[in-house]
Amino acid sequence: MNIAIHMTRAGQVYREYPAIAEGDILLSNYGDLAHRVACIATALRQEYGLQVGDRVALILRNCPEYLELLYGCWHAGLVTVPINAKLHPSDFAYILANSGAKLCFASPGLGGTVRKIDGVVLEEVIDVPGKNYSGFLNHAPSPVVYRAPEETAWLFYTSGTTGQPKGATLSHRNLLSMCHCYFSDVDSGGPWGAFLHAAPMSHGSGLYGLAHVMQGSCHVIPESGGFDPAEIYDLIESWPGVSFFAAPTMVKRLLDFPDERDTRNLKTIIYGGGPMYVEDCLAGLKRFGPKLAQLYGQGESPMTITALNAALHQDSDHPRWRDRLASVGVAQSAVEVRIADEAGSFLPVGEVGEVVVRGDTVMTGYWNNPQATAETVKEGWLYTGDYGVLDADGFLTLKDRSKDVIISGGTNIYPREVEEVLLRHPAIEEVSVIGRPDREWGETVVAYVVVCSDAATDQVALEDFCLTHMARFKRPKFYRFVEQLPKNNYGKVLKTTLRKWDQTDEV
Ligand code: ATP
Repeated sequence: MNIAIHMTRAGQVYREYPAIAEGDILLSNYGDLAHRVACIATALRQEYGLQVGDRVALILRNCPEYLELLYGCWHAGLVTVPINAKLHPSDFAYILANSGAKLCFASPGLGGTVRKIDGVVLEEVIDVPGKNYSGFLNHAPSPVVYRAPEETAWLFYTSGTTGQPKGATLSHRNLLSMCHCYFSDVDSGGPWGAFLHAAPMSHGSGLYGLAHVMQGSCHVIPESGGFDPAEIYDLIESWPGVSFFAAPTMVKRLLDFPDERDTRNLKTIIYGGGPMYVEDCLAGLKRFGPKLAQLYGQGESPMTITALNAALHQDSDHPRWRDRLASVGVAQSAVEVRIADEAGSFLPVGEVGEVVVRGDTVMTGYWNNPQATAETVKEGWLYTGDYGVLDADGFLTLKDRSKDVIISGGTNIYPREVEEVLLRHPAIEEVSVIGRPDREWGETVVAYVVVCSDAATDQVALEDFCLTHMARFKRPKFYRFVEQLPKNNYGKVLKTTLRKWDQTDEV
């Protein structure tokens, strides 16, 4: 079993179908792409002497070469280490050293940065595009190297929201199971559709891209290389049957785009990776119709724990529809999801505890970190570090990350609940809620608020609003008004930074 087989197959089955485009311009069909992949595999083994299982880092912005490099490595039996190109050089250094990568492919401007990093032993840094890279294609194609299902394919470094990124070790089986879940629970493509890489291919977009290779969709790379709502709308107009993965912040930017655009070509927007608040969900449904699908996953079970697919978004006649929109849907087909208490016992429906998951998508462990693996995967169950609750129909509602839960006067307060309420206030653009250490209560609730540019509010008005809409003990005692919230490169709010600001009075 090697995920690379699916590229070879796509080269045969979808030979003439468009495979890669940059903006509106078609660059290759599946026949060409599969041929290039097999030539790259030969070059990697022959020119660099790489052995089966060696790691290859990709510090690439989204680019047409991304897929051929991913598959070229797998075709040669190597392990890919995709790294978000927007990370800081110190993050590159950490991940390169931790993964023990031998070779690194880098986008224009990034190769120089990587070459200057001290203490990282790489055999070579190869610029993409570049002369050396073009030379790869002069090699003869080679056959796919067999890998056992449990062998590693992708080292997926988590986004480091709660600390240092951890290398979730994803096997060929993990990736194939993720693709199957995607077809059955989230979306399906086909040689008549397009998959737009609107988010970094080092994470969700690259992972879901694998499913779209299996089905022969055209992979469209935005020319801007970043997330530009106007360009995304242009590409939706240009390509038939477009699906794409987006972080909730990206969906919000599409919703805030002022012009009315034609989205008839849009098939599915898959969002996830962080909370999407119900108000934004409703606005999304109003703008795009029932074309939204939500997923909940983490690097440790790539993009695959639960899903709220388009049909479930649409079901507005259901008496619990609004609750369901606030949920992350139901367990995906390859996994079992339960709620556990601190001792690891399963809790009944309606009780809050840690979300645990097992199945074919769960990582084989953390790279080079047996202790973290033992703390996270117990008897086959992945402990996600997220708190949640299941209802009688299997819908999971996330409460918060266990590290973010506020314990005040011995009672748990889930910041997300407080944020959901505050976001309904018309003057609030964004909000993030944290706990502040407090001698009397253990912790008190603090809200960091970004006010809409055309509105005004103050602590008194927000206090009134909270007293009307939530239990008194949950309401923030303190408000801090800020221009923007600290976020990582995936658009996730960094609560660790907020907690530091709060300690040092820094804003
Ligand atoms: P680190 O583990 O390094 O701190 P991270 O948790 O951000 O970083 P990722 O694997 O990138 O690592 O993100 C997974 C986390 O994102 C999940 O555990 C969950 O907390 C959050 N998440 C994912 N999908 C959703 C969703 N649909 N709704 C709410 N939160 C989500």
